[in-house]
Amino acid sequence: MTPIKRSAFSKEGKWFRGNIHAHSTVSDGAVAPDKQAEDYCAQGYDFLALTDHNVMPTHAELSRDDFLMLPGWERDIPYGTTKCIHLVGLFPENTPDEAFIRRERGNPDTMSMQDLVDEMKSEGQFVVLAHPVWSRMEPEEIRALKGIDAIEVFNTGTERLCHAGHAEIHWDMLLREGRHVLGIACDDTHGKTARSDRFAGWVMVNAPKLERGAILDALRSGNYYSTMGPQLHDVTIEDGMVHVACTACSEIHVVTYPPRGKAHYAGEHPLTEIDYPLKGGERYVRVECIDENGCTAWSNPIYLDA
Ligand SMILES: [Zn+2]
Ligand SMILES: [Zn+2]
Repeated sequence: MTPIKRSAFSKEGKWFRGNIHAHSTVSDGAVAPDKQAEDYCAQGYDFLALTDHNVMPTHAELSRDDFLMLPGWERDIPYGTTKCIHLVGLFPENTPDEAFIRRERGNPDTMSMQDLVDEMKSEGQFVVLAHPVWSRMEPEEIRALKGIDAIEVFNTGTERLCHAGHAEIHWDMLLREGRHVLGIACDDTHGKTARSDRFAGWVMVNAPKLERGAILDALRSGNYYSTMGPQLHDVTIEDGMVHVACTACSEIHVVTYPPRGKAHYAGEHPLTEIDYPLKGGERYVRVECIDENGCTAWSNPIYLDA
C-alpha cells in the first residue's frame, strides 16, 4: 500500500456552521429574511444563504461580524407537472453587496438541464444539485449533468415533506464513475411544513476566517463535512488505514468502491473512533457516522485515484 496521508478535512482552521439552502418571504418561504438570519444566528449558526427561487438579493445588510450572509439563489426548470431540476447557486466572493438579480425560471423548450448548470458555472457560482429524489430525476439525468460541484446528500425540507430528502445512492452513483462531487446537508427551509424544516441539516466548514471568500474556498475545496448532529473529529487515511473519530455514535460506515467498505456498530459503549484497513484498489473513501437518534454526519470523499 502506498504510504500516503490524506484527510477529508483540515483541522487547522476554525469551524463554522452554516446552512446554504433556505427560503424567505422574498419567494415562497414563510419567514422574512431578517428574522430568518436572526433565528439561525440564535441557533448557533455562523453563516446562512437565503436561496430564494430565481431571485438573488445579497442580503449583505444582514451580515454582522459574527454572522455571514452568503449571496445565493435556487434556479429551476420544470418538466411537465411532476419533474424538475433545482440547482442551488452560491455567488462568488466578488459579487457586489448591492447586486440584485432576478431571472425567469428555466423554460424546458429552450433550456436543457445542462444549459442551466453551464449558465450558473459561467457566472462563477458554486452549484449544488438540490433534492434529486423530490425532483423525480432519473439516474441517467443526474449522470448526464456535467460540472455540478455538489449534490444534496440530505435536505431537511423535502425529507419532512414527503421522505424525499436523502440522496446517498445518487451521490455514490456519481462517485463510482470517478466524478468528483461533494455532498451537502441543508435545510431548504420554507417554514411551511407541518414539522419544522429548520436547524436539522447543515455543513461544518473549516476555514481561516468567517469571510465570504474563505467560506466559499472551503466549500469549493471540500474542506467541510455535512451533518444532522454528530461531529466528525477526524477522517484520515494513512498507510492504508482509515481512521475515523467522531462524537458518540451507534454506527460508523466506511463507504468505498470498488471494494465494498465496512459497517461498524457500537457494542456495549458508543463508537467514537474506528480504524479500517483498506483492501486495496479503492478509488474513493467516504464515511457516515450515525448517532443513537438516527442523525447522520457525512464526510466528503477522499479520492485515491487522483
Ligand atoms: Zn428546490
Ligand atoms: Zn429550495
